[in-house]
Amino acid sequence: MCIRDRARAAGGCLPLFKVLMTNVCEKNCRYCGIRASHDVPRASFTPDELAAAFDRLHRADLVDGLFLSSGVSTGPALAAGALGACSNACTPSTGSMPSM
Ligand code: SF4
Repeated sequence: MCIRDRARAAGGCLPLFKVLMTNVCEKNCRYCGIRASHDVPRASFTPDELAAAFDRLHRADLVDGLFLSSGVSTGPALAAGALGACSNACTPSTGSMPSM
């Protein structure tokens, strides 16, 4: 996870919390550092854990948005559902609209 700036259309930068929901992935895309065949430590967030982390960073005025992605550990449809659940969990407490 990291914080990255994204250029705003009106000028300036939008700091984003850039993070994977999980780096567990069942796919083997050759270009990808977290593909299934790579022996790397694996970790996952629940939607509530990720929302709490985003909320803390947002309240500390470190980020204004969320750039959320994920490995595919349970099929693409379930991974997309998990991303949607996380997006919903992040929105009400912060009032921010996460970008995905
Ligand atoms: S995380 Fe995405 S790009 Fe990487 S191996 Fe999995 S499906 Fe492919």
